[in-house]
Amino acid sequence: MRMFIIYTLAQNTYTMKDHYNTLVIGGGTGGIMVASQLLAKGLEKDIAIIEPAKYHYYQPAWTLVGADTYEYEDTQRTMSSVMPEGADWLQQKVTKIKADDNKVVLDNEKEVTYDYLIVSPGLKHDFSLVPGLQEVMDDPDSGVGSVYTDPEKVKKNIKRFEGGVALFTQPTTPIKCGGAPQKIMYLAESAFKKQGVRDKAKVVFATNGGVIFGIKPVKETLMKVVNRKNINLKFGHNLVEIDPKEKIAWYELGDNKGEHNDLDVETIEKDGRVGIKYDFLHTAPPSVAPEFVKESGLTNEAGWMDVDQYSLQHKKYKNIFGIGDVAALPTAKTGAAIRKQVPVVIDNLEKLKKGNEHFDKKYNGYSSCPLVTDYGKMVLAEFDYEGNFTPDPKLKWMLIGDSSKEHWRLWMLKKYGLPYLYWNKMMKGKDV
Ligand SMILES: Cc1cc2nc3c(=O)[nH]c(=O)nc-3n(C[C@H](O)[C@H](O)[C@H](O)COP(=O)(O)OP(=O)(O)OC[C@H]3O[C@@H](n4cnc5c(N)ncnc54)[C@H](O)[C@@H]3O)c2cc1C
Repeated sequence: MRMFIIYTLAQNTYTMKDHYNTLVIGGGTGGIMVASQLLAKGLEKDIAIIEPAKYHYYQPAWTLVGADTYEYEDTQRTMSSVMPEGADWLQQKVTKIKADDNKVVLDNEKEVTYDYLIVSPGLKHDFSLVPGLQEVMDDPDSGVGSVYTDPEKVKKNIKRFEGGVALFTQPTTPIKCGGAPQKIMYLAESAFKKQGVRDKAKVVFATNGGVIFGIKPVKETLMKVVNRKNINLKFGHNLVEIDPKEKIAWYELGDNKGEHNDLDVETIEKDGRVGIKYDFLHTAPPSVAPEFVKESGLTNEAGWMDVDQYSLQHKKYKNIFGIGDVAALPTAKTGAAIRKQVPVVIDNLEKLKKGNEHFDKKYNGYSSCPLVTDYGKMVLAEFDYEGNFTPDPKLKWMLIGDSSKEHWRLWMLKKYGLPYLYWNKMMKGKDV
């Protein structure tokens, strides 16, 4: 016998059943987009989204917030306003997936069963992977921040910076939108100029990679930007510890030396590590899959959700699909990638419901990174699993010839066009 619970949250009444045909975990970019499309296309009526948060964020604009050219409030909407009509919202946290029993356990200890499950809870930041990092992130006066967690703090840190070493770095784990740590660097460098402190500043980019960007034509443009802005590049630098007292970021050196340019930044060597003393530090957070996904036995050896990279179906549990940041996919973790993953999941899900497991629609690893290179300038990196540069033909409509080159129209797309498409198309289940 099915159990029905009706409860009231603010002005909205939600009905919680104990079984749904399709359950979606996460009301972020992936969860809302997939549920909205299933409903808008009339492919599903019995669907719920499990999401504990009160607010939904357009995270791609947080880089612009950090650079003081976008309002944080404009990146935030209430979760109730993005929940698609026709889906039940279970405002709980998932604590476990019992995949063998087609069951999800919630933090109120209730269990919900499903026929099909779509998992999109994003990723989790784990600052403990770099000792000392949490302490400096929590300290309002440390000069350390991240647009990934608190873009307003980054904005303050940029404004307060009076010169010295401005270090931009990232951890060795996968992160969301791998280009964001350099986008905020290019903008901060310009902000330092406007503030009249650039002459007293050394701007350093230290990363574990061996190249500024993996896609050749984009790399060529970005190297020109780096040289124009006189940025110190340090490749093969694996961030291992922060010394909050001495303000030193410690690195172990990898083999990825790359096309680096050791300008005039002093380093300290100790116990086989290299230290960079900083006055300002920006980093992306070390990131992992949420614990409940791992504890439910759904991850691969690297700790990410073990889905087939083309069908997005879980490798062991055929009625489970994974999308977004949680998925073990060899491409960049972005909302743009989700835009291309959702139609594939929807198509495959429909086939599966009809007992057909021959999935001919495949996700080709498409992802994109809008690399803001200055106030008013941007490069758009679009690529696939093979590392091919795959610019969207629609860009021709915007009179953008070569999107691997800096263009003011691409900046307009980032600041105005993409947020519009996100809220009005992607979140509403419309094709984009
Ligand atoms: C600074 C920054 C810049 C970025 N720039 C770009 C860009 O320019 N272009 C681009 O395309 N992308 C960009 N991204 C990346 C993009 O925002 C993410 O890739 C995208 O939001 C991932 O969607 P998701 O659904 O996987 O996760 P999210 O959107 O993070 O949503 C996950 C949801 O799951 C919920 N959740 C978590 N745990 C549970 C649980 N246990 N139970 C139920 N629900 C749970 C969370 O509350 C959250 O609402 C950027 C991100 C950041 C932070």
